[in-house]
Amino acid sequence: MKFIIDVHSHIFSARDIPLKGYLLSRNYEDKIQKLLSPILIPSIAKCIRGKLNREKNVFIKIKCKCTMGLVRLFMGGQYLKWGDTLSKDIESIISELIETFEKDEIDLFIPLMIDYEYWFKNTPDTLIKDQIDFIYENVILPYEGKFHPFVSFDPARELAFRKKLCNPDGDPEKYGSMNLVKDAIEKKGFIGVKLYNSMGYKPFNNASVDDKRRRISLHKKKYVFKGEEYDEVLTELYDYCVENEVPITTHCGMYGIESYPDASFDFGKAVYWRDVLDQEKFKNLHLNLAHFGWYTPEGYTGKITWVKDICKMLDDYNYLFTDVSCHRVVLKKYIRKFKSDYKKIGSDFPIVKERLLFGTDWHVLKRVPNFRDFKDDYIDVLKHENNFNDAEIKNFLSGNALNFLGLYKGGKNLKRLEKFYKDNNINPPEWFKSIRLSDGRS
Ligand SMILES: [Zn+2]
Repeated sequence: MKFIIDVHSHIFSARDIPLKGYLLSRNYEDKIQKLLSPILIPSIAKCIRGKLNREKNVFIKIKCKCTMGLVRLFMGGQYLKWGDTLSKDIESIISELIETFEKDEIDLFIPLMIDYEYWFKNTPDTLIKDQIDFIYENVILPYEGKFHPFVSFDPARELAFRKKLCNPDGDPEKYGSMNLVKDAIEKKGFIGVKLYNSMGYKPFNNASVDDKRRRISLHKKKYVFKGEEYDEVLTELYDYCVENEVPITTHCGMYGIESYPDASFDFGKAVYWRDVLDQEKFKNLHLNLAHFGWYTPEGYTGKITWVKDICKMLDDYNYLFTDVSCHRVVLKKYIRKFKSDYKKIGSDFPIVKERLLFGTDWHVLKRVPNFRDFKDDYIDVLKHENNFNDAEIKNFLSGNALNFLGLYKGGKNLKRLEKFYKDNNINPPEWFKSIRLSDGRS
């Protein structure tokens, strides 16, 4: 059976994240946007949250109309449309996601939760535990196998919990990240864990970046933890994930959301994961380096490239994968470069064809024009000059993802889902029935 898995999407609303810090932390390539974003973004964040909370004050509403006019002018219409999605509730975001990719016939969506609370300036957001419960009740259960998200793990939250500190909102931290992960994976239909190294922690060997982490002067320095402490909680997470065959996706791009400009280079380089995967006990960790470390102007052949590093790593580790989410293939000016880069990758590192994962990064992808063509345009790039054949495209769209997710005969994720459907009286979706009957990994 042919089916499609999107391994990387988002369904968070403006209420679920510290919105202002999140928007400010983005790297804006356009010079005018870079200049204006510190002035515009605080108002944008207020207006998006206001819309979500059904702001009634007429004066504020008029002010926001003007702000959004400026946004259209300087940040572009797509940015405005993305802001529109952020100002919806999760149920409406889900409906929009399904509508957006209706023609692509995606069978399984994997929304990735994010947890930025300890890393950005404080704008009170929905408690992470409440987000998990809400998604479980309003997304996972009613959609019966169409959504199985990854739950976020934040080592800073875990350390604050262990040290009995207060959270950035000023209340005692009641929820450790580790307990939240176990509950979501074992009882609530989540199938993996999301990490975000560029916030301020390396995959391992964190003592080596203690000085860099001191640059993050947030929350009156309430959450300064030692590198060894980060390693300790991360090691516990990896132990749990290996033991229970839980896959991890980590953000891996040169630029994007980061705790300070270029923090991605201090904490989030792909090669830092060698420190984890080289440890005998973690060699079977299922890991996805999201975004393929891709930075559009550089791609595979540029001077600074993580893409080549990742390709080499794919050869070294059997359970390492990489997703293509948010790549700019929908922009005509980059198509030729994508095609020639993949042609080279295909001949230098054929292993990529077994490890490349389809993922959109919607709704963040909404900032790019023509985002609806993402899947078709990506397939065009890969098929160029017979680079990927039909079977390899099929693996890109689902087969590789099944291996990453551990959804094959005997896999623990498959067993957990089987139990989840049974416990919750859910008739398993067609894609699940077909893999259960198959003979295992291709
Ligand atoms: Zn993403």
